[in-house]
Formats: sequence, C-alpha cells, structure tokens
Amino acid sequence: MSSLLVRPEMPKRIVQVAPDFYPVPPRLYGGIERMVHGLTEELAARGFDVYLYARAGSETSAKLVPYEHEGSDPQAIASFVERTMPDGVDLIHDHTHHSVIGRKKLPIPTVCSIHDSLKNPVDHPVYLSRRALAVIGRNEGRFVYNGIDVQAYPFQENKQSYLLFMGVLNWHKGIVHALDIAEKSGKRLIIAGPVFNNTYYEKEVAPRLAKNPNVSYVGEVGGEERLSLLADAECMLFPTSWEEPFGLVMVEALACGTPVLALANGAVPEVLAGFPELVCGSAEEMAAKAEAGCYPDPGTLRDYVAGQFTTALMADRYVSVYEELWSVPTSA
Ligand code: UDP
Repeated sequence: MSSLLVRPEMPKRIVQVAPDFYPVPPRLYGGIERMVHGLTEELAARGFDVYLYARAGSETSAKLVPYEHEGSDPQAIASFVERTMPDGVDLIHDHTHHSVIGRKKLPIPTVCSIHDSLKNPVDHPVYLSRRALAVIGRNEGRFVYNGIDVQAYPFQENKQSYLLFMGVLNWHKGIVHALDIAEKSGKRLIIAGPVFNNTYYEKEVAPRLAKNPNVSYVGEVGGEERLSLLADAECMLFPTSWEEPFGLVMVEALACGTPVLALANGAVPEVLAGFPELVCGSAEEMAAKAEAGCYPDPGTLRDYVAGQFTTALMADRYVSVYEELWSVPTSA
C-alpha cells in the first residue's frame, strides 16, 4: 500500500534590506527604519521566514543580519548582502537609498521601495504614493502607502497649547515656515528633530530660536518623549516644501488625535485626502488656520489612520506585490 506523503509547504524566505543609517526600529529620528520595522514584524508574525539586514543594534523577531560596517555606505551594504545572503531566498525587498540591491539585478525577485529619489531604473520599484508615481510620469505602476501600528500611538483628546514641528530642521521640511507661523501667531512652538545641515541651521534657524522665547528646540526625540509631544500638541505643522514621498510623521500625529496643518506638496493632499481643510496652499493660510484653531474631532483623525495607514494594510499590499512576482515563471 502506498502511503500518501504530504510535504508541508516551506514558508517563503524574504530578505528585508534596511538602510544603514540607524538601527531598526530607530531610537530617535528614522522614518524608513520605522516603516521597515513594522513591515518586518508583520511579515514574521504572518509566518514568512524573514531575514532583516540592518544596522548593528537593531531588534527584530525576524532573523537579524547586522551590518559589519560603521557609518553609512551604500556599496558596503550591497557587497555585504551579496556575500552573506542565505540560500533559498524567494524575494529581496530593498529599502536602501539608490536601491543598491535592486541595481545588482540578482536572479532573485527584488522589490525596491523608493523612499527618497523619485527616479529609479530598477525592475520592480514600489513608490510610497500615487503622487510619487505621477511625478516620474508613470500613472501605471505600484505604490504602497506606509503604515504604522496605531495601537503604539497614545490617543489624547485634551491637548496642550503648543504647535509641533517634528522632522529634519532643513529647508525641505519647511522649518522656516514653522518659525514664521510661530512669530505671526504668537503661539508656542516646539521643534523636535535632527540638524542635517549645520550651515543652514546656523544661518536660518538658530538666530530665530534666539529671538522668539515662545519657540523651544528640544533636539532629536525618541521613546515616550516623542509620543507625548505628538499626542499633546494642539496641532502639528508640516510645512513640507519638497516632493514629499509620503510624510510618516503626519499619520503618527493623526493617530494620536492631533491635527496636521500641511503644505500641499508631494503626497500631502493624498495622505490628508480625508481632511482637505487641513491642506494649505501657502504658509499664510497655514498661519491663519493655526490661529483660528478649528480642527476635526481627534477621534475622527485616529479612525482615519486606523482605516487607511496601518502596518497590516501596508503588509497586505506588499504581500500582493510579492505574490505577483512569485506568480511569474522564472527562466530555469
Ligand atoms: N522623528 C523622531 N524624532 C525626531 C524627529 C522625527 O523619531 O526628533 C521620526 C518621526 O516620528 C518619523 C520619522 O522620524 O517617524 C520621520 O519620517 P518622515 O517620513 O516624517 O520624514 P523623512 O523620513 O522624510 O525625514
């Protein structure tokens, strides 16, 4: 009598490649690392066999492969991953700037999330918004919104009287507009985030911090301090001034019930599509709205994020992309 052997299907082996700037999850600033953390945890919880390449000190329930190099070096990431990748990988998901793994054109399906530059000659790019696709002239193509674990963000209905700017203190995130709005409205402004360009900071930001006692710069924040700042603010100012690919901090604030007044650049109108009244055409309009202080109900803001921008939804969408690539027969 022949016995029927049922071979259990092996879980798909997925390699997630994080940038090497910060550990995953980041202790302080780090939008890509935060998103990679959420996605990796979600995939591991769903039973995928996930390897995470990330900076030493990262923490994950997947199998961590820590980079050996110090500092940031895209080429070091590329050669390290190629050298150390486990056997039997079904898919690589590259989150590095410049998609260093995607450009290697390895014989393994490679999905590249385009977190920064909008143009990228890789085989399977995934943009972070419909807008990012449109900007490169592709109305067809893949985009997947970033998501957060909403439960990890405290909901606060009773706000304190301050505006919050949380992000890089640089021109592209519109820090000067936030300073203008604080000066014009006389409102208290708390600024949190890293300085990437000292020259810009010394010239454009520091003198204005010294001049306005209502503005405090608290440095780069993490942990409870970051969550309380997000949750307690009466409003977040997001005067982004570049082709914003997504803007993770907006959904983090909304999840806490904190409204976000934002400039209509990049993906902002799309991410805030449920609240067009929060999307501003100019810094003057933003100042007027911050002064008026009429915002949607905090619970509605949180529900909006819970319906559209969760880690689970992000993972669903990426898994659909992976399955699409797995369904294409590979040439033997
Ligand atoms: N952030 C942080 N500490 C800070 C400033 C920012 O942890 O002092 C986080 C913020 O909460 C968000 C990320 O850094 O998770 C920034 O991501 P976003 O997409 O908003 O900005 P970008 O990556 O374009 O700079």
